[in-house]
Amino acid sequence: MARGSSIRDRDRIMTKALRKMNRKKREAKNTLPLLPPGEILIMDSLNPGRRYPAKLLRTGLKNRRTVIVSLECPACCSPMIWDRIWNAFKCTGKTHRKGIYELVG
Ligand SMILES: [Zn+2]
Repeated sequence: MARGSSIRDRDRIMTKALRKMNRKKREAKNTLPLLPPGEILIMDSLNPGRRYPAKLLRTGLKNRRTVIVSLECPACCSPMIWDRIWNAFKCTGKTHRKGIYELVG
């Protein structure tokens, strides 16, 4: 009786730990950058060195913290969305497909 319940307990704890681990993995995969407290500065990844202040278009809420969902492209004013492969914001403008801006501040 006691043995059986301890196995059940163990299984329950394991499942819980596994679920927590999977959730953490999922969150790490799909993290939007946190909103910095001051001005948002971005840098053209193809032409580093110059920094641009970025206009915030959309924010979201993740784990009670504000994250950046979309910024305005400094070159063509189209919305930019986060690209987790590049770890940078990518321009969605039709004529400016190669715009990739890293967050610097
Ligand atoms: Zn653009």
